Amino acid sequence: MTARNIDGKALSEKVREEIAQQAAELTAKGVQPCLAVILVGEDPASAVYVRNKVAGCEKAGFRSLKFSYPADVAPEQVFAKIAELNADTSVHGILVQLPLPKQFDSEKVLEAISPEKDVDGFHAVNFGLLLQGRKSFYPCTPWGVMKMLESENVQVKGAEAVVIGRSNIVGKPMSVMLLSKGATVTICHSQTRDLAFHTRRADILVAAVGKAKMITGDMIKPGAVVIDVGMNRDENGKLCGDVDYASASQVASLITPVPGGVGPMTITMLLANTLESARRALNQA
Ligand code: NDP
Repeated sequence: MTARNIDGKALSEKVREEIAQQAAELTAKGVQPCLAVILVGEDPASAVYVRNKVAGCEKAGFRSLKFSYPADVAPEQVFAKIAELNADTSVHGILVQLPLPKQFDSEKVLEAISPEKDVDGFHAVNFGLLLQGRKSFYPCTPWGVMKMLESENVQVKGAEAVVIGRSNIVGKPMSVMLLSKGATVTICHSQTRDLAFHTRRADILVAAVGKAKMITGDMIKPGAVVIDVGMNRDENGKLCGDVDYASASQVASLITPVPGGVGPMTITMLLANTLESARRALNQA
């Protein structure tokens, strides 16, 4: 079997067009969606992520605000900016780019953002709502994965889903989203005894580990849907996922490539959350 690619780039472009159209409608009614991004330090990868988020906003017709601080900034200064943005009714989404320098307690920073403006979906209130199956801002990467599955009409209800990774950003929320759509979910992590035993049972396999090409074709059930969240560099410095695409694509039925799979969907869902927050602001006005 040779797998078909799920084209995250094409899906992302389609969803962003819809978002831009809805943003124009909201703007015409007097509420232009606005995302504020806070960047601390000079980490080059973070700078690229922030640049892409700002560019994504502008292309969709959003207003974007960017606040940059040196790596040795006093945390109080960043907390003061978050408080100011929480109070600013023209701002609908606030995002603090992670990782933060060591003088910061990241959890405290994320909790300082108002849950109503937490468009990354990382606040404990939003995570709790997600766990309870209630409306919240969903974390962008797993939500993007759900959109990809939906776009391909993948049957989630009743499926055996295996998620590798249990981070608060990807693995855990991914598992909860699959569970809420009716999958039977297994979560694997670094302490899992026999990883391949679990992965070989998966109708839907999501890899969110951060280890280049660790999931090989022999670990995959024939015909499975394979979602590769990983973003790593291979031995030649080339971008690659957690899944060994060459062997996995011979066994799976659908697979996300890296690059061009899950990656483009993450910022798209960030825009979707910001749009939703702006819509709520308009409804409240
Ligand atoms: P974390 O490092 O926070 O989590 C990695 C998870 O993998 C942990 O739960 C860890 O287990 C588990 N793990 C580590 N080694 C193994 C192993 N040998 N077998 C099974 N599980 C293992 O990473 P993130 O969740 O933040 O990110 C995961 C990957 O996804 C990274 O490559 C990251 O770059 C990428 N990513 C991509 C995004 C995108 O937009 N495409 C967005 C966010 C992340 P334990 O908990 O026991 O330590």
